[in-house]
Amino acid sequence: MHAERLWQAALGQLQVEMPKAAFDTWVRDAQLLAYEDGQFIVGVQNAFARDWLAERLGPIVTRVLTGIAGRTVEVRFVVWQPEPSPGEPAPAEIPAGLQVGLNPRYTFENFVVGKSNRLAQAAAQAVVDNPAGPYNPLFLYGGVGLGKTHLLHAIAHACAAAEQRAVYVSAEDFTNELIDAIRTHSTAAFRDRYRQADLLLVDDVQFIAGKESTQEEFFHTFNALHGQAKQIVLSSDRSAKSFVTLEERLRSRFEWGLAADIQPPDFETRVAILRSKAERAGRSVQQEYLELIARRAQNNIRELEGALTRAFALADLTGAELGEETIEASLSELASKSRTLTPGKIIAAVAQQFQVPEAELCGPRRTRQLALPRQVAMYLIREETDESLPRIGQALGGRDHTTVMYGYERIADRLETDEGLRRQVLAIRSSLFQ
Ligand code: ADP
Ligand code: MG
Repeated sequence: MHAERLWQAALGQLQVEMPKAAFDTWVRDAQLLAYEDGQFIVGVQNAFARDWLAERLGPIVTRVLTGIAGRTVEVRFVVWQPEPSPGEPAPAEIPAGLQVGLNPRYTFENFVVGKSNRLAQAAAQAVVDNPAGPYNPLFLYGGVGLGKTHLLHAIAHACAAAEQRAVYVSAEDFTNELIDAIRTHSTAAFRDRYRQADLLLVDDVQFIAGKESTQEEFFHTFNALHGQAKQIVLSSDRSAKSFVTLEERLRSRFEWGLAADIQPPDFETRVAILRSKAERAGRSVQQEYLELIARRAQNNIRELEGALTRAFALADLTGAELGEETIEASLSELASKSRTLTPGKIIAAVAQQFQVPEAELCGPRRTRQLALPRQVAMYLIREETDESLPRIGQALGGRDHTTVMYGYERIADRLETDEGLRRQVLAIRSSLFQ
């Protein structure tokens, strides 16, 4: 078999064997650079990854590759970074803050439109074509995993390409930055950053419900931008009307422009999303198999994507075409989680990693130092155990299930772009699986 194909098959197997975060952090971007005399030379992005891989994964990768190749092979990891292509500007020339925190995959091109999200997508596109027009603010709302963040990033990408200053921020980061700015007496700089935007995109604004000083600051930012005919885009997991603790004057601002909801995708849209994702992965999958997955993963799109990725990995493993058996196996794989991990063990490991007392993690205080580890705990318990959302909330000191869901999504989003966080989550996972 061709070396590259062997490597791809090995990646598929590793993806099934390893915890997802570890795979995403360490293995996903590794590239086969060369194959010489029974030695696979694999390029990774930095020395940290190289050492980590060589030490902890070297033996596993070697075993997997040897198994697939049918002969003894060796693996060597080297640091390797793709050369920027000639026309590309050096990173230093990109205006600061412009593309920070944006997922490159979340573009309009990659967004599949169906009945459930047509209005939201059209409104997002209209904002790009005609900023600060009739849809200002644009307020997108819908349940988790339905594409709100994807659309916000898509708008930011498109605006950055048109040399508009788009600033994307989650409401939680906005809140934390504000708290820091107040603490360090730098609120002027904080205000400038947001008030100089041509376009401000604030994700998950439900987060500021009940937080008075954040609402106050946001209200002024909103007015300053809106008054200068700058575009504002907001997302939320609920409609503006259902914000019980949002100040009346802010809530009414949210309703000035257009509110567009995103519904869970219907069957046809789920199939179309799977097909688009398969095509981007360069795979052809028969319609009936896409339908099989679409019937099983109904709740949200993240779940749908996960099921397809796993099916690919399993198919690669067995060298088979993607068929009913592989799909059933990968779907049941999706459902089976570790039996030995308990919320308590995970909370202890998180507390250890972030150096905060366990009792504080489950306690009432809501400082920034505690918020992140607490959300990481929510994320890990949900990923690694079968506990329901309300029970995860209970384990963390009686928190509401919507808080848990939000925390989970938040970490899942951040893991896509935040390398530091990925490392921390990985460290916790390795301590749990040792
Ligand atoms: P939300 O912010 O609403 O919780 P996300 O924007 O994070 O949801 O979407 C979850 C995942 O589903 C992402 O990987 C995203 O790319 C994908 N996704 C959502 N909607 C679509 C769509 N219409 N077409 C393709 N992928 C989508
Ligand atoms: Mg989101």
